[in-house]
Amino acid sequence: MASRLRAETTPQNLQDQLSGWYAAHRRDLPWRRTRNPYFIWISEIMLQQTRVAVVIDRYQAFVSRFPTVQALAEAGEHDVLALWSGLGYYRRARMLHQAAQFVVRNLDGQLPRTAAELLQLPGVGGYTAAAIASIAYGEPVAVVDGNVERVICRLAGWDEAEPKGSSAHRRRIEQMASRLLDRTHPGEWNQAMMELGATVCLPRNPQCLVCPVASGCQTRGEHKTQPRARMLTREVAHAVVERRGAILLERRPAAETVMPGMWQLPLLRPAEPPRDPPLLTVRHAIMQVNYRVHLHAVAPADINRLTIAGGERRWCAKTDLAGLPLTGLARKVLTKLGKLTTHAPAARPRRLRSTP
Ligand code: SF4
Repeated sequence: MASRLRAETTPQNLQDQLSGWYAAHRRDLPWRRTRNPYFIWISEIMLQQTRVAVVIDRYQAFVSRFPTVQALAEAGEHDVLALWSGLGYYRRARMLHQAAQFVVRNLDGQLPRTAAELLQLPGVGGYTAAAIASIAYGEPVAVVDGNVERVICRLAGWDEAEPKGSSAHRRRIEQMASRLLDRTHPGEWNQAMMELGATVCLPRNPQCLVCPVASGCQTRGEHKTQPRARMLTREVAHAVVERRGAILLERRPAAETVMPGMWQLPLLRPAEPPRDPPLLTVRHAIMQVNYRVHLHAVAPADINRLTIAGGERRWCAKTDLAGLPLTGLARKVLTKLGKLTTHAPAARPRRLRSTP
């Protein structure tokens, strides 16, 4: 298999083709209307492993509530998680919060200006550092995310199915990304490469007929792809328990959950399902697991008998639900059940209090 660009293709050709395409076809996304490094940082962290459509809504609420790194640093973790609710991978929010506090405490409230210096922030790796430095400050560093890696492998005719962890594979991708980089407009170039991967050079169905760099591509759709990760399936059931305008929520112990600190509906014991049919059944995917989730109405008197003990429980007034750090699943089902009337968290997230 060939292992470089087509003989007639130069980085300059590719830059001309891709830059023209990006100027005409780029999606109008809120974080592309700014070069404010703090806003770019927030958007890059949110976009890791989360779809753009979900991020648009959450990004705007987040930067409205925390418009500066100082505002984020001063916020309580509860408030940060509430604004992150629905994005998943909540460790990102905690690291972002810690990084904001680090910036205020140690860097006089100023984000570092280079990729190398940005790496000192908690939760900022090579990809995020290069994205912030190139887009906000124009540093000529190439971004390599999953989309860019796929585009480069196909352009160069490299095997995409090669083990992701191979350091030699990673090194040659980074070298090629650096060779192709438009050093005059690095931020635009990096975004154009990511946009091509996200909208044209798709993982399983690349749109080669409309691809702006097809003439320089070694594979043009004739490539091996990574096998799709096998999804597991699970059935779970949650209790919908209501009392005097309030609903019972719980937080599972940190050792039991991938979403510590987030509120959800109490888990039902699998061995003793309620006799009545579920109020609602939904599908919900978390990482490599597809859940089929059943929601059952449970009377307050049956809580201890039917639910799994061990979580911290609180009654929450329905009017306060929107401002809580709810799991994405809890937000989804409470909305479908008509208990949560607005998707966006309140401007000031509410604290949960016990309801006697
Ligand atoms: S021609 Fe096809 S495979 Fe090559 S970069 Fe474009 S979309 Fe990807």
